[in-house]
This record gives sequence, C-alpha cells and structure tokens, in this order.
Amino acid sequence: MAGRLVSETLTKLSQMGDVTLHEPAGDRPQAERARRTRKQEFNFSDCIANLQTPRGPKPVLKSMMTTACERNCNYCVFRAGRAKTKRVTFSPDDMATAFETLEGAGKVDGLFLSSGIIKGSVTTQDKIIDTADIIRNRQGYRGYIHLKIMPGIEYDQLYRSMQLADRVSVNLEAPTSERLAALAPKKIFIEELVRMLQWAQQIRRDHQDERLASSITQFVVGAVGDTDLELLSMSDKLYSQAKLARVYYSAFGPVPGTPFENLPATEAIREFRLYQSSFLLRDYKWDVEELPFLRDGNLRTDVDPKQAWADEHLQHQPVEVMAAEREQLLRIPGVGPVGANAIIRARRRGKLTELIHLKQIGIRTPDKLAKYVLLNGVQPAHQLKLF
Ligand code: SF4
Repeated sequence: MAGRLVSETLTKLSQMGDVTLHEPAGDRPQAERARRTRKQEFNFSDCIANLQTPRGPKPVLKSMMTTACERNCNYCVFRAGRAKTKRVTFSPDDMATAFETLEGAGKVDGLFLSSGIIKGSVTTQDKIIDTADIIRNRQGYRGYIHLKIMPGIEYDQLYRSMQLADRVSVNLEAPTSERLAALAPKKIFIEELVRMLQWAQQIRRDHQDERLASSITQFVVGAVGDTDLELLSMSDKLYSQAKLARVYYSAFGPVPGTPFENLPATEAIREFRLYQSSFLLRDYKWDVEELPFLRDGNLRTDVDPKQAWADEHLQHQPVEVMAAEREQLLRIPGVGPVGANAIIRARRRGKLTELIHLKQIGIRTPDKLAKYVLLNGVQPAHQLKLF
C-alpha cells in the first residue's frame, strides 16, 4: 500500500514536468536553464536540476506544492484561468515522502520548493513550512533546502521558513511598483514583497546565534519596459540594505495563453550583462552610478560593462600594476578578486614588467588588459604573443 502511494506521488511529480525551469535556484542560472538533457528513469528527471548551491554542486529536486494559482501574473504559465495548464497538487506528507524516496535512492541531494497560491499566501506558506518541517525533523535530512516565500506572509512564517531552509527567495519580479503593476496586477510591491526581504534581514540581525537562511530575489527582465538602470538600482539597494546573497535576472519569454503571449522575448545577452553588472555591485563594490548606462537607461549589450567603463576611464589613465591599491586593480578588465590578490603577492616578491608575468600568476588573458595598465611605468605592447 505504502509502495503504491509512493509510486503515485512520483508519477505526479513527473506530470509536473519542468515546473521551475524559469525559476533559477543555483549559482549558475544560465547553465541551469540550458540543461534539459537525457531522460532518467521514473521520467521525473525534469524536476531534478543539477545546481551549484552554497553547499557545492548537487542534484536538487525542484518542485511545487501546487501548480494551481489564484493570482494572475501576466507572464506566468501557472496563472489563474489558463485552461491548458495541468494542475497538480501535493500534500506536505506526499511531497516529503517523494523527496525522501528520491534522496534515499541517491537521485537528489537537495530540495527547491515553490508553489502557486491557493487559499491565500498564509495557507500556502504553511504547506511549504509543513513539508520542510517533516523533511528536517521527521526524516532528519540535513542537506540543502531552498524555500520560496509567498507574497505577504506573516513574520513568524518567514522566521520559521528561514530556520528550516538554507535559502529563501522572495521574487520581486519588477524593480518598481509601477512595473510590478504591469507584470503582476495582484501583487503589492512594498507590502507583500519588499517587506519580506526587509524582515528577512531583520530576523538575521535579531537572531545572530541561529543558523538562518540567506535570501535572494528574481526579476523578470524586459516585458514591461523596465530598464537596466531600474533593475540594477534596486539590486544595489537590496545588496546593501537587505543583504541579499544573490539577485537573479530572468529574461522574459512569452508563454502561449497569457496576456503577454505576443510580446517579444528578451535577448539572453541582456540577462548576461545584468549578471555581470550585478556582480560589479555585489563583489567589486561599484556604485550603481558608475555603471556605463546609455541615455535610455540600458547597458550596451555588445560589450562587458567593466570593459565599457575601462574604455572610457582607463585608456588615458592606465593603472600602474606595481603600485595600485587592490580596489584599483579590480577596475582592470580581466582582473578579479583572485587576480588582484595574486598581483599583490607577486609584486612583493619582485617586479611585474611583462604581460607574461601576469600570465604566470594566473591572469588568464593578460593581452586584453594591456591597454589599461602600466607595468613598472611602461605600457605593454598590445596583443603580444605569449607562446
Ligand atoms: S503568484 Fe506565482 S504561480 Fe501564481 S501566477 Fe503569479 S508567478 Fe504564477
């Protein structure tokens, strides 16, 4: 009997298909979306994603408590009233059992759990929490769990979710109230979404002795006229004030049977440039005003934003590699935190006078940075052959 129930639950999982394909959850979202390779046994492989998680690479079960939803986000495959969507619903016990079965069989080591909204956000979040509670406390699973936070839940629900999970996500979807109204008419930007991220940071501050989840968000890019400046300004605020671990950018793609079905898809390169810029804000501590926006508030898509900035600022004022502060070294295209540290270590031992010296300490494409630097007072020749 128990075996039959498990088998039915796994069949239901397979019916969900690739439900969270458009909801990145790991550290390499573009690779995640490009996966869809061969099928695995049980035919629920579409629900398993190989993610780069904060605990390393893992096969993670990405699933939803229900694919039914009472809201009507204009871009979403699960929006209310979309007749062609197959609706599948799990109880917390069923979802936890499915996870335990897959984890026990070595198919997954991690869970990403989202949901459509039925009977309100609070009821829906309770089901997500109950599932995670069973997995953590009845089944004793200590591995990676990522929980989605429904819009406008209660403070205590958020706190409990953060106790159970490694990561929680509150998807803002849009960078301003106006843009959100166009994307998701029933979501309320500040009260239901931004507040959740503010609370999450408050909870981490108030309970520093506890192991609590980090938080992330996602934007849908390019459906409603949102600009890169809007998206990155909001990202910057979230990194600095709400201490987000990560902001995801998901290029809009039209879904048949939704109000946005005839809108053009957003180019993947725009998403990629947003990620590059977002890392400059988060990891390199750039100010958003320093990013090279065009007059329309967007970034060039044909060039890396760091290189666009360097073309404007460093070509005539190259950085002296032997003397520059770490912060200045990080401004050079092709030099990241690891490279900057390597330069600082190497110059204590002697002079860096040739591009080949940079190559020897791990800078992968030193010829590309030649026009932005001086090596011991001399600008190296461009496009030197290193081998
Ligand atoms: S609330 Fe979530 S599942 Fe429901 S329509 Fe909006 S994006 Fe889709």
